[in-house]
Amino acid sequence: MTPAALVYTLVLAAVFGLVIGSFLNVVVYRVPAGIPLTRESRCPACDAPVRAWQNVPVLSWMLLRGRCATCRTAISARYPLVEVATALAFLGVVWAATERVAIAGVDASSIGVLLAYLWLAAVSVALTLIDLDTQRLPNAIVLPSYVVAFGLFAVAASLGADPMGLVRAAVGAAAMYGFYALLRLIRPDGMGGGDVKLAGVLGMYLGWVGWGALAVGGFAAFVLGGLYGVAVIIARRAGRRDAIPFGPWMLAGAWLGIAAGEPLAQAYVRWAIGA
Ligand SMILES: [Zn+2]
Repeated sequence: MTPAALVYTLVLAAVFGLVIGSFLNVVVYRVPAGIPLTRESRCPACDAPVRAWQNVPVLSWMLLRGRCATCRTAISARYPLVEVATALAFLGVVWAATERVAIAGVDASSIGVLLAYLWLAAVSVALTLIDLDTQRLPNAIVLPSYVVAFGLFAVAASLGADPMGLVRAAVGAAAMYGFYALLRLIRPDGMGGGDVKLAGVLGMYLGWVGWGALAVGGFAAFVLGGLYGVAVIIARRAGRRDAIPFGPWMLAGAWLGIAAGEPLAQAYVRWAIGA
């Protein structure tokens, strides 16, 4: 890939991320509230319809100085921040994909894999915010992710990607779902049903990358979530019994596993056998 082509690709990824991020703001607000995604956007304070020029990611919020054009009620800075975060996530996923393409060459199967991980990036942003807002991981987002991810991985495998990846994805989904279901059985108050269903999705993505990614990604959620829980208790922001949403840590752990799980697992094995 020439430097110019790389820059075009990354700019395209960032703009696509901004647009999807703008849509995710709508998803995060409407899906838990049961409001249809197709309804036109209105100001929650004065009910004025949001016009097209007021709906441009980040720019509109800056032009409006964070206020509704009609009633001047403040619009949360979270909206442009979510758009920027999604753009950065898409940049990272596309950047990793272009690095792989530089090594292995571009083919149809790598497009399928790229779309699968962009889907996970978008779902990660939406589920993190919804879990923090409402302590829920809606089925309307988690369950379609099984179909989207497995469908795209199956297409990629049929177009020339390693068919063992599909086997690992299926095993990873079953293993993570089973492990979280067991945890929920042992301590029903410690784990939500949404966590169990999300675990299967993340196991699928981690398994596609490799066994090392699956092990590291599955384990990292408990390390990150545990460290955060200890920090919160020390800071006395929450008692031992307060529920801390676990979904964001599952997602963070999974991304750590996807990005660095394979080399981390290999380094650990080398260290463990003393080589
Ligand atoms: Zn208004």
